[in-house]
Amino acid sequence: MRYTATILEKHRDALKQHLIRPDGLERVALLICGRSRVNQDPWAGDREERFISREVIIVPDEHLLDQSAITVRFPTSYILNAAKQVEAKDFAVAIVHSHPGGPLAYSATDDRDEPGAVSIIFNRNDGDRPHLSLLMDGRGEMTGRAYGPDLKSVPLSMLRVIGDRFQFRHADRDTGIAPHLDRQRRAFGKAFSNDMRALRFGIVGAGATGSATALLLMRLGAGNIAAFDPDIVDRTNLNRLHFARQADADAGARKIDVLMRQVAEAGLGVQIRAYAEWIGSPACREALKACDVIFGCTDDHSGRNLVNRLAYFYGIPVIDMGIRMELDDNGEDFRVLDGRVTALLPGTTCLHCRGLINPDRLRAESLRRNDPDGYERERAAGYLPNEGDPAPAVVTFTTETACMAVNELIHRMHGFRGNDGSWNERVRQFHVPKDFDIRAGRSPRSGCRICESTTYWGRGDMEPFLDVAS
Ligand SMILES: [Zn+2]
Ligand SMILES: [Zn+2]
Repeated sequence: MRYTATILEKHRDALKQHLIRPDGLERVALLICGRSRVNQDPWAGDREERFISREVIIVPDEHLLDQSAITVRFPTSYILNAAKQVEAKDFAVAIVHSHPGGPLAYSATDDRDEPGAVSIIFNRNDGDRPHLSLLMDGRGEMTGRAYGPDLKSVPLSMLRVIGDRFQFRHADRDTGIAPHLDRQRRAFGKAFSNDMRALRFGIVGAGATGSATALLLMRLGAGNIAAFDPDIVDRTNLNRLHFARQADADAGARKIDVLMRQVAEAGLGVQIRAYAEWIGSPACREALKACDVIFGCTDDHSGRNLVNRLAYFYGIPVIDMGIRMELDDNGEDFRVLDGRVTALLPGTTCLHCRGLINPDRLRAESLRRNDPDGYERERAAGYLPNEGDPAPAVVTFTTETACMAVNELIHRMHGFRGNDGSWNERVRQFHVPKDFDIRAGRSPRSGCRICESTTYWGRGDMEPFLDVAS
């Protein structure tokens, strides 16, 4: 069993503001967390129990029973109330305290007192799923451990902070790196490459942008990749599908098999798992939930709809990308020639609100999948959007868009663009004879249940999955 936690940056900041003060005294807060369980991790094969932050509860100084630079005690009523609050939805409670003067390690007092505090939750609520303890030091760095009903603690093997910047804390941050990453280390340091090795990446769609993303992640030293795509290689893909050969098109090979073959042949230590299924099928669920970061490389609207919800429910950042190429009426000049990258996570504007998921296309796709006869009937009657001719596609534009997406990841992990370097949406207009990016600031639409309301943020597991009735 592996325990991991995902903390939204805004929750980390709220905790830091309360827990770390110039007076150097210890303080305490609680954090309500959604849960995600993966029964079999696609890479390690073990079980993962993941906590996802939802809400910070501050314990104000005037309620503390005892407080110094090396100790803090607070009334058990706070734990009881939190236990009551999480009961109906089976959320987890995290008890968070600070060591403002360090170290970022639990003290003997913590080891002695914490099991008693956690036992209050297990005694009050049914269920044997774990609860959490988090510790923050004076720099705002965090570590944590999970408690099962036996009240024995197990350290978190991965602690993620996600937002404008991504931070990953895991045991392998300081280990040595593979010799082939030496030049990259000279740019970004050792920790970046060790994070890449430890992280689990999902690539939804293994077409033009997806194969480019896989190629880039592999060269950057990614250790674990899951690719999802049911399609086979078509002759018309060969102008932009990295790794694919004429023989693959002739044989009708699956895109993910081409990807697996080439990644294996490169011999760079990537563990790749591939799923030849539509992304919404239950067979993909565990692998998606096991990811730390997902790249959205599909132009299928139902696929986009799924990764959009996943980002908010599970706090898994999705870096979504797309290309739009349209010629004007004379068929010669480009009206639109855009590469787009959108970062999705709680606190950002979702794909629906950005107008990037077309409800009519979404309905047509789901009809085609679930009721092919009904789909044909409605299409013949003109009730469905016209799919028209295939859109134009050129390898340089699809590949550059993948580079923009992966650079967004690198920046959020490393910070090479400096403050304000994280853009939630970037559109590069390839046909404008000057290279520039547009920062498209869009707000959530009023009433959006995914990105305006916080109800689903960190919701984690629920029935039905992602609250979509099938
Ligand atoms: Zn302590
Ligand atoms: Zn929205």
